[in-house]
Amino acid sequence: MRRLIPLLLIPLLLAPAAPATAAPPGPAGPTATGYGGAVASVDPTATAAGLEVLRHGGNAVDAALAVAATLGVTEPFSSGIGGGGFFVYYDARTGRVQTLDGRETAPRSMGETAFVNPATGQPYAFQEARVSGLSAGVPGSLATWDAAARRWGTRPLSAALRPAAQVARDGFTVDATFNQQVSDNAAAFAQFEPTAKLYLPGGAPPAVGTKLRNPDLAATYDLIARRGIDQFYSGDIGRDIVSTVQHPPLAASPSQPWQYQIRPGGMTLGDLRAYEVRRPDPTHVGYRGLDVYGMATPSSGGSTVGEALNILERSDLHGLDKTQALHRYLEASALAFADRNRYVGDYTPRRTLDALLTDGFAGERACQINPAAALAKPVAPGVPDGRYDGHCAATTGGAAPDLGQSTTNLTVADRWGNVVEYTLTIEQIGGNGIVVPGRGFLLNNELTDFNFTPTQGSEPDPNLPGPGKRPRSSMAPTIVLQHGKPFLAVGSPGGSTIITTVLQILVNRLDLGMTLPEALAAPRASQRNTASVTAEPAFISSPEGQALAGLHHTFTPMAEIGAATAIEFLPHGRLLACAEPVRRGSGSAGTVR
Ligand code: GLU
Repeated sequence: MRRLIPLLLIPLLLAPAAPATAAPPGPAGPTATGYGGAVASVDPTATAAGLEVLRHGGNAVDAALAVAATLGVTEPFSSGIGGGGFFVYYDARTGRVQTLDGRETAPRSMGETAFVNPATGQPYAFQEARVSGLSAGVPGSLATWDAAARRWGTRPLSAALRPAAQVARDGFTVDATFNQQVSDNAAAFAQFEPTAKLYLPGGAPPAVGTKLRNPDLAATYDLIARRGIDQFYSGDIGRDIVSTVQHPPLAASPSQPWQYQIRPGGMTLGDLRAYEVRRPDPTHVGYRGLDVYGMATPSSGGSTVGEALNILERSDLHGLDKTQALHRYLEASALAFADRNRYVGDYTPRRTLDALLTDGFAGERACQINPAAALAKPVAPGVPDGRYDGHCAATTGGAAPDLGQSTTNLTVADRWGNVVEYTLTIEQIGGNGIVVPGRGFLLNNELTDFNFTPTQGSEPDPNLPGPGKRPRSSMAPTIVLQHGKPFLAVGSPGGSTIITTVLQILVNRLDLGMTLPEALAAPRASQRNTASVTAEPAFISSPEGQALAGLHHTFTPMAEIGAATAIEFLPHGRLLACAEPVRRGSGSAGTVR
């Protein structure tokens, strides 16, 4: 989102670190081309923080952590230390892609029916489940940052936290998106004394153009910078998190009504202490001579994007007319979502995930696609059993996907060729609505990414709640290599539309002849195995949208889908960094030179 850059960063932006032929490109616009490293995020202050680290010799991981810590201040409703995420890293030295799973985790006390009201036997309404202590998972972001800094960074985490603390202390200028996000959450925020105090000063959202300071968050970052992340996972901050979850800090007289009961959660200090960052192997598929790496479980991002690409590789999309190419894109996505819903959750065995990504399975799925008409949705999942006999009967089944539009994404490359693609979240915009008293950050509601009740009929549902379990995600940070070297890195927020946004950008760029900025800007459509395709109005009204309606695709309009960032690695070390030109108030990209 576009926001004014705090005064303290302006000298840094003007610092003569680059050859003095021209002023270093500031991270103002959504697209930048240059050398020596690049950053793309939703926010100019965060992008500037990352570029500053790169200019002073930090690597992509150091810069990514500076961006993430700053986003925790300026994008507090989409990310922050109260949440989690997935970090994908290409190491230029080894040529390997590695991942960190910093997903939030259910407390050990959480059972399969945690989101079913014991009094009625019915699942809670979404807002009742969300705005509660119950929905908060043990946060993983800080442990992810610490693990990334230790494994791959060149400086300690404190180096990323201190400048971000300064932004929190000095304040940043509230823009229209920030103001809108508070307005949309005002009733929930008003229920909690510390949230209302921070984000509803005087009972109303902070006005556009005013400065918002968060001294509590500055102190929290400083404390962690000084004393380490144990302060969070087993020390005083952890105790405050646990007491906030168990006893939500209700406002004495909320300025707005709330129709639901606010339920406590069962997180304990033992749950926080037990938190672990996992390091799963990335998912991998080959696509038209490229290697596409993504996030394994508990995210469904890598497997669903990968399966859809495998299905699409069966057609020569480039040789088809654009309507047929988009028809295949929508159908491949629906088929891959059916398999995601049936098979993918935190405990999915790796062999099942790998089976979903075989060419044999993709062949069996691809032959269901009818060029003349959209399949009836939902389509049934396939059977990735290794016996692929060309059986093509399309039947119906499956489940509706989850919806959400929160989260943030960042992409960073450095001069040595290392790349970070990182998607982080607190789930809904505004998380569970509860700021930890005296600490200045919101808690996540990630546990509502579990299915509240079984969705797969008589088959097991892989995404029901469980003790110590991580809810299935759709986050899809993706790194594409060509002959072992980075070609493209991309990711997006948007709940389950993350998967289709990443897939559509890849298809736009790799198959439909678009440049990367065009691939991001193009109108989006998201088919997640539902009767109707969720699509942006410009997609529906386009000639292809009209032609797809003729193939029996129906559309449900959605104003905006996703808010991607990406970097393309051009010949001779040139970098093309891209953020959204329009969506979410537009993003910010910059290069070092
Ligand atoms: N919680 C979602 C997920 O992990 C992301 C939230 C969003 O982007 O809206 O898939």
